[in-house]
Amino acid sequence: MPHSTPLCQIYLDANATTQVHPEAAKAALSTMQDVFGNPSSSHISGLKAKNLMTKARNAAKKHLGNGDGKLIFTSGATEGIQTAIISALVAAKSKMKPNKKYCLLYGATEHKAVPESLKHWNELLGINADIKAIPVCNNGELDTGFIAREVQHALIICTMAVNNETGVYQDLAKLEDAIRANNPTVFWMVDCVQALGKRALQLEQTSIDYAPFSGHKLYAPKGIGLLYVREHAPFTPFIAGGGQENGLRSGTENLPGMAAFKVIFDMLNGESRYRFANNETLNQYRSQILGALTHAFPNLVLNHSLENTVATTINFSVPNFSSKEIMDLFDAANIRVSSGSACSSKVTRSFVLDAMGLSTWQSESAIRMSFGPMMTQDECDQACQRITQAAAALKHSCLIQSDEIEAAPLNGLMELKSGNSCCWLLTDGPSNQAVIIDPLPELIERIESIVNCQQLTIKAILDTHGHADHQSSRSTLINKLNLAETQCHLGWPNQSEQTLIQGERYPSISIGTQTLVKVATPGHTADSVSYLLFPTISTATSHCQYAFCGDTILMGSLGRTNFDCSSAEEMYFSLNKLASLLSADTLICASHDYFNEFATTLTHECSRTPLLKQVMDNSISVTDFIAEKSLLDAHLMDQAGCEIQCGAYVAVDNSLSIKEYDKLGFESLMKTNSDAKLIDIREPHEYALNRSNKAEINVPLTRLVQFLSENIHNKQQQYILVCRSGTRSLLVAQAMGRLGFENIGHLQGGYAMN
Ligand code: PLP
Repeated sequence: MPHSTPLCQIYLDANATTQVHPEAAKAALSTMQDVFGNPSSSHISGLKAKNLMTKARNAAKKHLGNGDGKLIFTSGATEGIQTAIISALVAAKSKMKPNKKYCLLYGATEHKAVPESLKHWNELLGINADIKAIPVCNNGELDTGFIAREVQHALIICTMAVNNETGVYQDLAKLEDAIRANNPTVFWMVDCVQALGKRALQLEQTSIDYAPFSGHKLYAPKGIGLLYVREHAPFTPFIAGGGQENGLRSGTENLPGMAAFKVIFDMLNGESRYRFANNETLNQYRSQILGALTHAFPNLVLNHSLENTVATTINFSVPNFSSKEIMDLFDAANIRVSSGSACSSKVTRSFVLDAMGLSTWQSESAIRMSFGPMMTQDECDQACQRITQAAAALKHSCLIQSDEIEAAPLNGLMELKSGNSCCWLLTDGPSNQAVIIDPLPELIERIESIVNCQQLTIKAILDTHGHADHQSSRSTLINKLNLAETQCHLGWPNQSEQTLIQGERYPSISIGTQTLVKVATPGHTADSVSYLLFPTISTATSHCQYAFCGDTILMGSLGRTNFDCSSAEEMYFSLNKLASLLSADTLICASHDYFNEFATTLTHECSRTPLLKQVMDNSISVTDFIAEKSLLDAHLMDQAGCEIQCGAYVAVDNSLSIKEYDKLGFESLMKTNSDAKLIDIREPHEYALNRSNKAEINVPLTRLVQFLSENIHNKQQQYILVCRSGTRSLLVAQAMGRLGFENIGHLQGGYAMN
């Protein structure tokens, strides 16, 4: 899809993988075309291929200083790790004494390929040793005291030269002392994947038995790797077959990969006219990038020291931003970074930072920027410029406070979420007045930033009830925002106004020209209230736009009523009360959103919560309601078997048919249907950094409920939703579909694929 400002990608995820060096790619291609013989063939084509293989191996040997040790080509480091572990364990097994306890040791921050392989082969080979993680200290260095104590019982010890998440390197000489002083014969594997090209290695001069390498981490293609095996170290082939690699690793060789890897080793050996940046230059790049980062995010925290890390990795966290948010932001700025390791991108925290004892927030917010020795000054300058632009976009949307950058004006409802809990910020643009409902502890800084940056006048900070799952952060927020403390129930001002609705007076406060009414809705808890927003002062004629019902009506369920302070009977009457005050289009904004539904309506809830429908239809007695509700509360489990804190669960219907467009389908729709509206649902900072010419409307998830409310009377309008990868757009499409929007589609794969 066309972008108004096409930006080239700045790739800062080299520890996950690298692009192939153009010369390496050339070598691979010419090998495929010209040196395609099978090295096992004895004709001239075969001999040429064999010659290339020997040259590649020699180039690698020269750089790695492996002396008489073997250097075996593999498909990558994971294979090298398996081979090393099998070789060591098969040999160790034959010498195990009965009734003696053995262990397998690995560094706690090791790549998952290591502990997982240890576990797998320990079981499969029937060794059944204890598998123990060697702890690391705060700076990521292995605890040599632990090694000294445990290694005497070890069959293998696995450590890494450089960590893939933090760039922390180990002092291999110190490790060697600790290992060999206590167990001269234990097999020692060092994962050298992230050290290649960044740390000098002279393998023969060490007692390392096995060292795996991987081509794709240093500009060679995926599918080529190496395993160093010390002379006389035991070896068991992992792949048997035609006897290639002297019988050590069968399978027809990956010659193009080897040719490409050779180019890289020639560069490392200084035997190419192409050069990698030296360490001093890489250090300068790191300083420059760090400078840009700390200027852009003044309270950024570095997750490692600069002393014991390679220059090419920076791992940091920004307080109050999750890794996902920063990644989305950088992706919009066309900077590719990762959260923790790419192999575990679904996991939201870093086991490496956890092992280093860093705080939970650092682990959950960690971002890794990594580059390689092909980095140029121009790329580094551009990266810094983009980091500055990305931070400016955050400042514009008030997520970082700034005196220099003007904030985008705010009007209407904003939803802020932490996990599955929701906090609502209701603002009236013209008067700059605002109310905060159910402030969550994790969101205090974010709310503070928005309120200050928008210069909002806070009329009230309210809770819908005393929450069972968290402490209200009302008082903290009052202090932070320098507001006068009001000793009042759930934050409702003592001296509020009164509003007459259907002949009954309700306490109310005005927010600009809008009226927020408080209605007691006990049931879930005795103190539960609902706040209803009426857009005009004359509530007699206007309908309720939003109902903040706390946990009384949740999406897909009713709030649980099995706390000591609950009453199903009172809930029955509260539901009736709400039914009389809400209209069909009132959007119910709950305190929880377990399944990304954003908001709901009474009509929609009645269609899937039979008990609610019975109350609305007056077809159930209070006694029967109490009995049915107690049955529902007995099954407060979600699909994962976890207890849902606040409401009785009803499965979400995701079977709606959402139109999914690919690039061609989308383009043809845009040509033929001028009425279809394209909505970019990324956050405003992502939209500002990188927007499609065609998406004139930006409706971020935080503003979706406001958008739904403004368009709830036009459910026939065709909308096509687009986001970064197609995940958020699908969620929103499903949510809109459930609320009865009839013509919703989304762009499959988002901007990333189109
Ligand atoms: N070890 C480390 C330290 C790594 O970073 C990686 C790749 O992420 C691996 C092992 C696995 O390497 P490969 O992708 O070549 O199997």
